[in-house]
Amino acid sequence: MGARFFLGVELMFETVLVVEDDRMIGEAVCAALKDAGVTTQWARSGWEATGILSQERFDLVLLDLGLPGRDGMSVLRGLRADGSDTPVIILTARDGLEDRLAGLDAGADDYVLKPFHMSELLARMRAVLRRRPGAASAAARTLTNGELTLDTETKIVTIERDGEKRQAALSRREYDLLEALLTRPGAILSRAALEERVYSDGELPESNAIEFIIHGLRKKLGASAIGNVRGLGWMVQRPRAS
Ligand code: CA
Repeated sequence: MGARFFLGVELMFETVLVVEDDRMIGEAVCAALKDAGVTTQWARSGWEATGILSQERFDLVLLDLGLPGRDGMSVLRGLRADGSDTPVIILTARDGLEDRLAGLDAGADDYVLKPFHMSELLARMRAVLRRRPGAASAAARTLTNGELTLDTETKIVTIERDGEKRQAALSRREYDLLEALLTRPGAILSRAALEERVYSDGELPESNAIEFIIHGLRKKLGASAIGNVRGLGWMVQRPRAS
């Protein structure tokens, strides 16, 4: 575990992803954060950032907008479409109101105009974390996909549909199966793959056991929550980018 950086009385974070193609700015920000004991990763392009974010969680992301390959706004939209609520602060030289509003609309928590002083950036980071206490731990605990949010600690799933919110408790096997699907949205998981996740070594599931669990899940979540691809397996849809 990395060193802890106390950004306020009770606010602390350990990992920050810096997405910045400008070498001088990237080095300065990473050095300042490292000095403060924060574990940092530095992505120099939009695609690199997207790749890292699909693998790892961070307590906060500092995101440049003008990046080679994939721009920062696309990185941000992709992150939010994947259900992540990791706090994001945009670093931008563009001071147009439209860019700022687009960034906030796309799910950024704040923006800092370049050039900035490190003390200003740290103050904004502090403010974002203060506004979202526990955001990092909650994000690490939940799996979200469209209408569904699964709390991996309480095993309770929240369904938000047509403006209504309801919750359902899952059996252990229902939970294991749904978790397997939600961690790989868009991927078709075969019966064998799901059996492996749901049944431990030595347990021999009946031939239609997975169908039975899926049937129970659909009753709780709605029939459309889990898709069947005939002959191949089951899946949850990848959330659409908004
Ligand atoms: Ca740039």
